[in-house]
Amino acid sequence: MPKFKMPDKAETPKLLIQSPKGTHDILPDDYALYQSIFEKAEEISSYYGFRPIQTPHFEKTDLFTAAIGESTDIVEKEMYAFKTKGGDRLALRPEGTAPVMRSYIENGMHTLPQPVMLWYKGSFFRHENPQKGRFREFQQFGLEIIGEPKTIAEAIIIQVLTLILKEIGIEDIIVNINSIGDKECRTNYRKELMNYYRKKFNALCGDCKKRFKKNPLRMLDCKKPKCVELKQDVPQLIDYLCNNCKQSFREVLEFLEASDTPYFLDNHLVRGLDYYTRTVFEIFEDTAEKIKGAADEGENEKKTRGVALVAGGRYDGLAKTLGKKDIPAVGGAIGIDRVVQILRDRNIKPQIKKTPKIFFIQLGAAARYKSLSIMEMLRKAGVPIEQSLCKDNLRGQLKLASKLNMPYVLILGQKEALDSSIIVRDMESGVQETVAVEKIIETIKRKIK
Ligand SMILES: [Zn+2]
Ligand SMILES: [Zn+2]
Repeated sequence: MPKFKMPDKAETPKLLIQSPKGTHDILPDDYALYQSIFEKAEEISSYYGFRPIQTPHFEKTDLFTAAIGESTDIVEKEMYAFKTKGGDRLALRPEGTAPVMRSYIENGMHTLPQPVMLWYKGSFFRHENPQKGRFREFQQFGLEIIGEPKTIAEAIIIQVLTLILKEIGIEDIIVNINSIGDKECRTNYRKELMNYYRKKFNALCGDCKKRFKKNPLRMLDCKKPKCVELKQDVPQLIDYLCNNCKQSFREVLEFLEASDTPYFLDNHLVRGLDYYTRTVFEIFEDTAEKIKGAADEGENEKKTRGVALVAGGRYDGLAKTLGKKDIPAVGGAIGIDRVVQILRDRNIKPQIKKTPKIFFIQLGAAARYKSLSIMEMLRKAGVPIEQSLCKDNLRGQLKLASKLNMPYVLILGQKEALDSSIIVRDMESGVQETVAVEKIIETIKRKIK
């Protein structure tokens, strides 16, 4: 198969109906990148004891309003929620944690030995403004540890997500981390926060004016320039943590230090979801060294790090919002599209387990007919091939094989088809030998070893 090269915009024909804004097709070359990332993520996660789970792409809307919070951007503005013809209110899943927790409770996983460690992957949907590497249908790989109050759960989640990024080629990472306390200490902080913002109320953006009453913590999340300016002197949540929360945060930081994981205490990090308690974190590629110049010119440090590749945190209170008692849990997810964007920009090639080293050529009707059974023989023996069954001309097929850098070519012509043999050609030396069909697997395996 020829490699897919995206045509220039000018060459793209105008379609009457194009893909919806914020969606994208994943073409074969990019698909290989996605696939290699998922393979690596699944492999590492299973070594650490995580098991797979898949939940539906849509859920009852109430699940997300209860879990994520009604006054969050996700629920208010970004969720694809709709009413079915039968009158059900459903939503395309905007994130994976609430569905996994729903499934955990619904399937009685609390009766299993705890904690339950799960990984999931797939499409999620948010009606956001599309940016580079950010789509309205986006791919995530996530981990959840449910039923574990100890901070070892945070340690495992951060460790595994960090490892996955490193193994796929993003070596320099930094963990932005914060603690947003629990119900106890957050109530005190809320009061302080409201006192602080009350004097500045008129200067707040429209959204933050609403947040002030409904969920003041979320004002720390606002990206509007004037609100970013207003939060410079905001009281720090960390000064209001109760002893248990302080102790837990200390342990998480100790882990990061013990494992030599670079981190940055980000006091403004709150994450835009109601269900988080205590630890919240985001993982960035640490481009600080490379963009030092830009930073020296006064750009703030966080901005130059670009978008988070991973986000997560502890969510001890989530189960209760779904009608169960508190269940301690931690999770995090990788935004795969952003990671693919980085790999593509760096020209990092996917590490697929098997790349074909054999190009299969056939000539004439009799040979083509026989081709399919030979290809099946190769597949069963686990030998991946490239082919061009739709072409007839030997020179054209050889040209394609050398363009694809195939070290070996199998040629099945009219004569070979009749006497059940096949030609094996070494593309570098040009040396050819004729081999009986039943010896072909053996011959190839010896050559491509
Ligand atoms: Zn604002
Ligand atoms: Zn606390």
